Amino acid sequence: MQNQLDFYSALEKLLGSVKRLPSVETQDLSNCFGRVLAVNLVSDNNIPAFNNSQVDGYALRFSDFTEDKFYNVSQRIPAGSTSTALQPDTIARIFTGAELPVGADSVIMQEDTESNEKKGIKLKKKIRLGENIRKKGCDLKSGEVFFKKGRKLTAADIGMCASVGLADLQVYKPIKVGVFSTGDELKQPGEKLNKAQLYDSNRPMILGLVKQLGFETLDLGWLPDDLESTVNGLEEASKKVDAVLTCGGVSVGEEDHLKDAVRKVGKLQLWEINMKPGKPFAFGEIGDAFFLGMPGNPVSAWVTFSLLCQPFLCKLNGMFPNNFRLTLAKANFNYENRGQRREFLRVRLNDDGLIELFERQNSQVLSSICFSDGLVEVPVKKEIVKGDLVNFYSFQSSV
Ligand code: AMP
Ligand code: MG
Repeated sequence: MQNQLDFYSALEKLLGSVKRLPSVETQDLSNCFGRVLAVNLVSDNNIPAFNNSQVDGYALRFSDFTEDKFYNVSQRIPAGSTSTALQPDTIARIFTGAELPVGADSVIMQEDTESNEKKGIKLKKKIRLGENIRKKGCDLKSGEVFFKKGRKLTAADIGMCASVGLADLQVYKPIKVGVFSTGDELKQPGEKLNKAQLYDSNRPMILGLVKQLGFETLDLGWLPDDLESTVNGLEEASKKVDAVLTCGGVSVGEEDHLKDAVRKVGKLQLWEINMKPGKPFAFGEIGDAFFLGMPGNPVSAWVTFSLLCQPFLCKLNGMFPNNFRLTLAKANFNYENRGQRREFLRVRLNDDGLIELFERQNSQVLSSICFSDGLVEVPVKKEIVKGDLVNFYSFQSSV
């Protein structure tokens, strides 16, 4: 028991072992969604680049403005055209996004004016100085670092890069992650089962989780419970990928060969973490590749992937490790952790936004993942009482 590493120390150890960055490539902006920035981005321009109108209306000089007086319209400025200086005591017809003429400092909405063919335009409402103006540089200032290296680009980020005129970006090449399943009892979907066998559900699930993160995947297939095949499989795989992920075969039974195999072809740096589920998680290095060995129970595989492999792989792909998906949520249940390990329970959000405990917490019940919204962390000896704020790892939020 004493030898088991605390979950957070284990996570720190994993993250600390990433000492390299992926290679960098230049990609067309249209291919950069979900990719990780390899450089800081600085805007060469102010965004917006010029003061402009927020509405369709009339641009005017605030100090000239009097309510209920008619004004001549001295120029018309559609969006995209350049303006000339505003003549004193006149107003300029202006459209949304059009350049504010020099001398104007406020815009009145079209709806707050009255038009008379002979007399001009009457301003029916008081306005404030600077009203309806979008100031040059209010979104971004020229010279400002707006995105830092290591940021995973969202759709809004891509829009932001386009708004400063960037046609391509320097991003990290996605890492390549291979996934093995292990165990003599496993058959592949489509094959016939005898009554003591079960289907390999972890491998397609883990490959899906890796794909969701935007990394390249390699389906490494299945390994039997045999040391020699495991050694050969791991050694071969380590030459093809940045990280080899396995599930099963890391526990204490004599049919569990992963740890010995890693010791033979590389270094086993960590085994056993004080967490439930997920205790037998193993971590090491084989040649230039990392090894991450998840337990075989599907829930244990999911939980250790989400809480350990995911942040590790994200860091290996150059992301700054801020995407732990940890938030606080309010519990609608009572629970006491009377065990010796930090627990991660499957929970779902109810219609009031409170979290409910999933009924079946056994680590083989994969449906508990399908029908849950996330994990709640319960430290050793901690008692959760209805209404408590607890650590919640959402399955929804992406990294
Ligand atoms: P192990 O960690 O190898 O002792 O496996 C623990 C449990 O998980 C056993 O009941 C296995 O049959 C099951 N298991 C292992 N690998 C998989 C897999 N790929 N898909 C579904 N169940 C698995
Ligand atoms: Mg096994």
